[in-house]
Amino acid sequence: MVALVFPALPTVTLPVTGRAERFPVRRIFCVGRNYAEHAREMGGEPEKEPPFFFTKPADAVVESGSRIPYPPATTNLHHEAELVLAIGKGGAMVAEEDAPALIWGHATGNDLTRRDLQAEAKANRRPWDMAKAFDKSAVIGPIRPGALPDGSLRCTVNGALRQEARLSDMIWSPAAIIAALSRLVSLSPGDLIFTGTPAGVGPLTRGDICKVEIDGLQSATVTIG
Ligand code: MN
Repeated sequence: MVALVFPALPTVTLPVTGRAERFPVRRIFCVGRNYAEHAREMGGEPEKEPPFFFTKPADAVVESGSRIPYPPATTNLHHEAELVLAIGKGGAMVAEEDAPALIWGHATGNDLTRRDLQAEAKANRRPWDMAKAFDKSAVIGPIRPGALPDGSLRCTVNGALRQEARLSDMIWSPAAIIAALSRLVSLSPGDLIFTGTPAGVGPLTRGDICKVEIDGLQSATVTIG
């Protein structure tokens, strides 16, 4: 037993659909632009660049059903509805055809973004961390073990539809994302990967209830306090 100068924080975990055991979270990776219409709305050109990645800390996780405070340092908090891959088997330099075997399950997610800080970071060629990796910025629903969902993804705010897309509209498939990411870092069990958001991102204000749904998965709902 190693003596610690203060108690270590417990591992962040997420519920699993239909099981009592929870999923231990290691790291959170996110894909930047992965739906053509969203790439265009953010001023980029889809299909011209390989996938790029940013990260959030594991302790940014917010479970579905939570109420979170409106975050500091922003006046333009945005929702980004996304499919989340939950990695159960590690690997590096993974071939695309071998990538599905690394996936343990899937969840709905909301990549909360301080859009004003992101715009400032882009304009000044600075990192995105403070726009993306802030406290309580990763809303994630329960993880469903097994096969990739193949339907649609939706985001509503107070019941009004904001985002809707087919998962098959992704530019980079989950397998292609894992293959690309595993050439940059060694993936480990417990890693989560947000796979990008479709068009329709927009602001959240105090009192809003933001619900992300994916066919076949439990929703990821958050209330902005
Ligand atoms: Mn995103």
